[in-house]
Amino acid sequence: MSSYKVNKPDAEWRAQLDATQFEVTRHAATERAFTGKYWDHWQAGTYACVCCGEPLFDSATKFDAGCGWPSYSEALKAGIVERVVDRSHGMVRVEVRCQSCGAHLGHVFDDGPEPTGERFCINSASIDFQPRNGS
Ligand SMILES: [Zn+2]
Repeated sequence: MSSYKVNKPDAEWRAQLDATQFEVTRHAATERAFTGKYWDHWQAGTYACVCCGEPLFDSATKFDAGCGWPSYSEALKAGIVERVVDRSHGMVRVEVRCQSCGAHLGHVFDDGPEPTGERFCINSASIDFQPRNGS
């Protein structure tokens, strides 16, 4: 836990985030499909961690997976997201977290488009969109 660059007690995260953002990022909750603000959002720009502001995903890699959550074929940079095996809910999945602050983002699956073949299925509540300058 203390291996993250950004560390704050829960009380500080709770003050900074809204209730959904807090439950998703700090307690690995999942927002309901088709309820988040970014699953059907296609502006050009970057999506940053809602907790620490680290840019994590780019609109150029976003695609419509039809699953009701924002989906990306890759992270903005290698090593910017942490992958953790998640055995909750009777499944084995790979959880993705922000490498800087440990925020739960979502999961990564291997049924994405080429060339990566990966699908980062991310909660809207975990990310914050920043439009590209001039777009
Ligand atoms: Zn973060």
